[in-house]
Amino acid sequence: MNDEIVGIDLGTTFSLAAYVRNGKAQVVKDTSGNSLIPSIISIHADGSVFVGTEAQRHCLTDPVHTIFSIKRLIGRTLKDLEKDLPFIPYQIQEKTRDDGRTVLTVKIGDKDFTPEEVSAIILGEVRRLAGNPTKAVITVPAYFDDSQRQATRDAGKIAGLDVLRIINEPTAAALAYGLDRKRNGTIVVYDLGGGTFDCSVLSIADGVFKVLSTNGDTHLGGDDFDHAIIRHVLDDKLNIKTKLDARSIAALKLEAEKTKRNLSSNDQATFNLDSLPTLGTTPLEITRENFEHKIIPLIERTLACCKKALKDASIKTTSVDEIVLVGGSSRVPLVQKMVQDFFGKKPLTSINPDEAVAIGAAVQGEILSGKRKNLLLLDVIPLSLGIETLGGAISKLIHRNTTIPAIATERFSTGVDNQTGIVFNIYQGERELAKDCKNLGKFTLSGFPPMPAQMPQVDVSFIIDANGILTVSAKEIRSGVEASVKVQPASGLSKEEIENIVLDSIEHASEDFKQRMLIELRTKAGIDLNHARRILSNSMLPLSENDKSNINTAIATVESAVLQQEPGIIKTVLDEFQTVLTPYASMAMDAAAKMYLSNQNPEQLNDLGK
Ligand code: ADP
Ligand code: MG
Repeated sequence: MNDEIVGIDLGTTFSLAAYVRNGKAQVVKDTSGNSLIPSIISIHADGSVFVGTEAQRHCLTDPVHTIFSIKRLIGRTLKDLEKDLPFIPYQIQEKTRDDGRTVLTVKIGDKDFTPEEVSAIILGEVRRLAGNPTKAVITVPAYFDDSQRQATRDAGKIAGLDVLRIINEPTAAALAYGLDRKRNGTIVVYDLGGGTFDCSVLSIADGVFKVLSTNGDTHLGGDDFDHAIIRHVLDDKLNIKTKLDARSIAALKLEAEKTKRNLSSNDQATFNLDSLPTLGTTPLEITRENFEHKIIPLIERTLACCKKALKDASIKTTSVDEIVLVGGSSRVPLVQKMVQDFFGKKPLTSINPDEAVAIGAAVQGEILSGKRKNLLLLDVIPLSLGIETLGGAISKLIHRNTTIPAIATERFSTGVDNQTGIVFNIYQGERELAKDCKNLGKFTLSGFPPMPAQMPQVDVSFIIDANGILTVSAKEIRSGVEASVKVQPASGLSKEEIENIVLDSIEHASEDFKQRMLIELRTKAGIDLNHARRILSNSMLPLSENDKSNINTAIATVESAVLQQEPGIIKTVLDEFQTVLTPYASMAMDAAAKMYLSNQNPEQLNDLGK
């Protein structure tokens, strides 16, 4: 059994794997020496499935059975994709199921596939080439939201991988260069891939790694460079004005890509018309100068994104310490030159830009395996998370760019008398109204005793784990009724569906279970700690200095226990904490009840215990 941890860059256009072996990072190569697997699959009526280069060949002959750029769809809903729809050539549809969850599917022939399943087929091929590892670190763009991260993780599960960690692509690239070893600094990661451009500003302060801002363009990349060459061939060289059929366009695209790659290392390259006999027979010579002239405006657009990212992070170009070039299109010499001119500094290019992310994921795998020490890797969440309150407004609990893991708690109450439950709608986004944000799911806390409006005190906690995945829990303080859910995105595959697809996941069960226990226990610890702190600051309680010191010691013990990786240790400490806390908690309950019975103004009661 291969129990090494593999790092996987699941890209929009190319995917690849890497390992760190004996302290040295290396990408996985196939028998012809290629590390990059095109993120393309084709599925046929007879059930045959092709992945990667094989599938790419089928693009030409059988476009309707070929799917590419599935990463644009993963974890999204039709509504999210409104702007992308004109760019998606295949048939997609959304189904709403009985439980209200929606699932997006892609039609291939007469079969429907979810983006998770398509991604799992690609991951399966990456995994096979990598020698069938069972544990992986997978990268996602820094701006990926909760649903997109969860769906990526689900795709990994379907492919038989235990996804130990999801990390941000720019962070991975910085790790690949060992920039985590710097004490302090600002890093810009410039990632120009096949169809997307991302610029991220990272900071390192005393070994803590943080994404300060991201900006980019989801429809700008190497594909546009290919189109620039196609336009040059059709308009300037062949003067062809007629509309071409799908097959010819696909053949032109393949040839343009080949020419573009050649132009990265040569001043001139040949554009062959062998597969396009109707357009001509003599091969065409394309110069680098011609190509560069066409792509200047495209590169300028990437630099405009960089400018915005720097502005959001309040960083001047002059204070950037390192620029990391990522993505296959960063191999274009003019891209490197224009980036260098923009920042006034030579970017790092010693690692192949299309391999840096996978290598960084492998480095993260090495860190997780405990072979590399003294490192704290922190990312930030890309979008704010909150709860819908009365009137459809959003109360944000965790703001965007908060470092993860993170926890936040806020107190809510009821609006009407004798309410015994509250439904919380969880949202993600920057706007103030729920209707403008993305609904991540619903959460109900029920079964607390009827009380006057405003009397119940419900503490809602949001916990984001190191993967950026959200767990929400709520507790009614007076009655102790509590509930907790790992937020299931309102779209994508249900837990059962994934479990049905996963055939060989049983061997990972114990590690998965442990991780879940840890999340749950840390959630509980967060709630209990808050509770204890509120007791300490409650001026209505007759607490002696001795009581206060007891509580403070217990708080410190829990705070250090939650950092442990062993659920058993955390559980024991939490149980002890409960024992210490119980007499004070009932003291607080009594005080609240006394106030209530003496018929105080409920508004005032609501402030009790804060
Ligand atoms: P992803 O978009 O999946 O992150 P990559 O980072 O591998 O993918 O970028 C793929 C893009 O890089 C493609 O458009 C490909 O044509 C382009 N590319 C790869 N090698 C070169 C090269 N030598 N010169 C120019 N472009 C290249
Ligand atoms: Mg990429």
